[in-house]
Amino acid sequence: MSIDVVIIGSGVAALKVYSTLLHNRNLNPLIIDFNPLGGILASANFVYKYPRIPIFIDSNIINLFTTCNPLCYHLEVCILKEGDIIDKIKGFAPFDVQRLWIYELAEKKTACFLPHLSKCILALLNVGNETIRRVRDSIRKVDITNKVIATLQGLTFRYKSLIYTWPLDLLMKIISNINDPSISALINDVINKAKYVSIYTRSYVIYEKSSKYDEPKIELYLHGTKASRVHTIIKIPIANSITLLYALTSYSEYYPLLPGIGDKIHSELKRHKVLTPSMQVLDYSDTNIVYGFLNTLPEEALEKVKEKLQGYNIMLFGRIAEWREYDVPSLLFKRDLHIKIHK
Ligand SMILES: Cc1cc2nc3c(=O)[nH]c(=O)nc-3n(C[C@H](O)[C@H](O)[C@H](O)COP(=O)(O)OP(=O)(O)OC[C@H]3O[C@@H](n4cnc5c(N)ncnc54)[C@H](O)[C@@H]3O)c2cc1C
Repeated sequence: MSIDVVIIGSGVAALKVYSTLLHNRNLNPLIIDFNPLGGILASANFVYKYPRIPIFIDSNIINLFTTCNPLCYHLEVCILKEGDIIDKIKGFAPFDVQRLWIYELAEKKTACFLPHLSKCILALLNVGNETIRRVRDSIRKVDITNKVIATLQGLTFRYKSLIYTWPLDLLMKIISNINDPSISALINDVINKAKYVSIYTRSYVIYEKSSKYDEPKIELYLHGTKASRVHTIIKIPIANSITLLYALTSYSEYYPLLPGIGDKIHSELKRHKVLTPSMQVLDYSDTNIVYGFLNTLPEEALEKVKEKLQGYNIMLFGRIAEWREYDVPSLLFKRDLHIKIHK
């Protein structure tokens, strides 16, 4: 099958490109991804469909999201244990990361949360879950000289332009037939420098009869030593007597994940008295975010990779493809989305 534009990925970056091409350029691109729509913003396996990681929108720009019923509450920070919280959030990795999302939150007075973020993004981009043209499959190979994609299930698509939103370090595993070996060397060189810290999150939907929904606040607990695996706990009241609770731990090759980490987090939450006997767990879910915090890559080399790939009609777009710590608003409302479509 021949397609003008194929988008690899289905996170907010992919959806933004899809919407722009559909509504502004009158094109009908095809999304290929095995993951659910929304990427890391997709709902957890909760029956309640809440986000699997705690994402907050800056209160200064929350007016852009008013149709999504944001919950903006006072943020109360509680230090469970002093220590080197930044190192712990970084999974004790010895390199710098571009942004420490959780630490940024701790500096705010008000936090704004969207309980149905991925649904809200689809509505803001004016694309319908059921009407999106997509194939739920993974990529086996992309022949970048002949511009052909083969999927794991054996489908093939000939494309004119390709937008890549998957992780940058997976790129070399799926592209093939590069006619200039210096380009492979250039891409490999950048990819070898890409480092990241991962995050494991246990999230709960909790019923607590006594919770005071008339004075709602978002609670952030930080723990800064190795005495506890969890470094961040966030409690968000989302309805009368209902609270969302996220507990996060970071891991890296310098601080590996323990087997049975979900249960360990659960017992630590009880030990810290954040989960108490008066709370009834209605549902819980575990999420592994591989690309939690990204290091900084040499700007010039990265730009060169992008330029070379454009020579093959491939554009990198999004947080993990461009290896740039974009937040949700800057991807959604990014003004400089120049997508070159090849005819
Ligand atoms: C821990 C954390 C906290 C954040 N907090 C905030 C916040 O408070 N506010 C805010 O505005 N933004 C926050 N962000 C950033 C926000 O989540 C991103 O800007 C946005 O989700 C990026 O969308 P994307 O489509 O570029 O990438 P993603 O949705 O990450 O992924 C793009 C594509 O890659 C695929 N993919 C992802 N991981 C893998 C993998 N391991 N293997 C194969 N494919 C994969 C996905 O399925 C998807 O199709 C946070 C990010 C993280 C990691």
